[in-house]
Amino acid sequence: MVNFSERLRDDQCSKVTRFQLTPCADVKALARSLGVEVEERVLGDTTDGYLERDEFLSESGWKIVINRKRSVVRKRFTVAHELAHFLLHARDDPFYEPQRDTFSVGSEENEANLFAARILMPGRLVGGFFQEGVRSPNRLGKIFGVSAEAMSRRLNELGLN
Ligand SMILES: [Zn+2]
Repeated sequence: MVNFSERLRDDQCSKVTRFQLTPCADVKALARSLGVEVEERVLGDTTDGYLERDEFLSESGWKIVINRKRSVVRKRFTVAHELAHFLLHARDDPFYEPQRDTFSVGSEENEANLFAARILMPGRLVGGFFQEGVRSPNRLGKIFGVSAEAMSRRLNELGLN
């Protein structure tokens, strides 16, 4: 089991932990609280979003750009995914060059997807609903603001099926 929390600063970790107290919390607000602005733009069909340098508006020097044409759940996942790149990959590396994301393969991409799934679908919360009998990925997905597919993968990861 990868432990992401030990790679975050304490203040970042506590913000993420607070975000995870309720299902479907505002992931854009989480990004902003971490110093990362979120901007929606019309992007090409193959692009979900990316991290972009922004020394002026964003406290951290980075902002997240997401494709306005995507569904609400897709946008939420993209914000969480780009936030993972910011927290895990971009923070201490001045030469970090972000790529336009189509959730392509590669270890940083896998990590970002894994991290995004964990922050949007906290194990303890998902487990709580599951124990109370809410077990369909479709219903759980609606509660947590993610797709049924993403919830299905997360349930498997948690051994809940
Ligand atoms: Zn990515």
